[in-house]
Amino acid sequence: MPTFDQTLNDAAWQAAGEGLTRVSPEAVRRALAAPRPGAGDIPTLLAPAADAFLEQIAQRARETTLRRFGRTVALYAPIYLSNHCANVCLYCGFNCNNTILRKTLSAAEAESEMARVREQGFDHLLLVSGDHPREIPFDYIRDAVARAHRRFASVSVEVYPMDLAQYTQLAQAGCDGLVLYQETYHVEQYLRMHPRGWKRDYAGRLRAIEAGAEAGMRSVGLGALLGLSDWRREGLCLARHAAHLMKRFWRTRIAFSFPRICPAAGGFQPPCPVTDRDLVHMMCALRIAFPDAEIVISTRERAELRDRLVQLGVATRFSAGSRTQPGGYRDEAGATGQFDVHDRRTPAEVAAVIAAAGYDPVWKDWDRTFLGGSTGVPSPAGRPRPATGFPRSV
Ligand code: SF4
Repeated sequence: MPTFDQTLNDAAWQAAGEGLTRVSPEAVRRALAAPRPGAGDIPTLLAPAADAFLEQIAQRARETTLRRFGRTVALYAPIYLSNHCANVCLYCGFNCNNTILRKTLSAAEAESEMARVREQGFDHLLLVSGDHPREIPFDYIRDAVARAHRRFASVSVEVYPMDLAQYTQLAQAGCDGLVLYQETYHVEQYLRMHPRGWKRDYAGRLRAIEAGAEAGMRSVGLGALLGLSDWRREGLCLARHAAHLMKRFWRTRIAFSFPRICPAAGGFQPPCPVTDRDLVHMMCALRIAFPDAEIVISTRERAELRDRLVQLGVATRFSAGSRTQPGGYRDEAGATGQFDVHDRRTPAEVAAVIAAAGYDPVWKDWDRTFLGGSTGVPSPAGRPRPATGFPRSV
């Protein structure tokens, strides 16, 4: 039986595209009328034939979200720990070939950023960094998690891929969420976008997500960087990936993000631009098929679109007031950001917009004590370790 990454080879990618074009309007009507559409309906809901049904798709997605999440929108903020990186990802401002102002936060600077973010009301934090073995060793990330855990109810990481032992240590230090976008599920395009560096390991990235779930992460964040490849097939692969993870790790919640490429150092231009309409279509289709998944929208998107998305009522988690440079909450000029944030409103302003739309802005919706006082980390003892096969230890 092929492993999940083997099901995403180039032939499968091409076949997926051909399959989408064969979907009929009648099939879309049937999927929308089904009592419980699931992952198997995603090819129908994302097909070109479904474009004409966007209004109905959005309505169904909104009803599904209301039933599962009520009128709530959770808020979180990222803190960038370091913009050093040894990888060449063509689309990213932190690409090691770019000449930018680089910085890794000291422990005191990280504490200061955490204090600032906490003062703004956030209780859910995302720690982000580039991938550089000397500048950002594993111990540094684990210590940052432990510091953040003392201040925040929920701490997630969006850093380089790790193995089961490392994710287990992060979970024990207080990390409950892992975000690791595949960037693109199209293998050939993935290799073109990552010509050098550890990140070329497409299958290793997929395995890392499984290692994180195995280590007991409460939530795993999946996403494709929209603009790198055909969004319909990316949506299809995201759904397959989520369904695969849900079968193996039923206690782990899936979160879908929809990051669109933003202007950044290096001036990368997306080869397959994704319109607002496409973005909404993809988001709503995934919501219908995955009623329990978080749908995350970041400050990459314009304020005007984010406001419309709040009213649409499908996304359940928004970042706000984000800075993408290390130290950015105290000193925006001290380092270069990963990309240009589009929504630069304060967290309070974003919360006010959510409230004005009739939704509750939620600063905290989880606490580790929900797990009965345990760390929430199942013991890895006695379980086989997955062969993550990373080429280095950090
Ligand atoms: S996407 Fe991540 S790994 Fe790639 S250059 Fe940017 S920070 Fe480094």
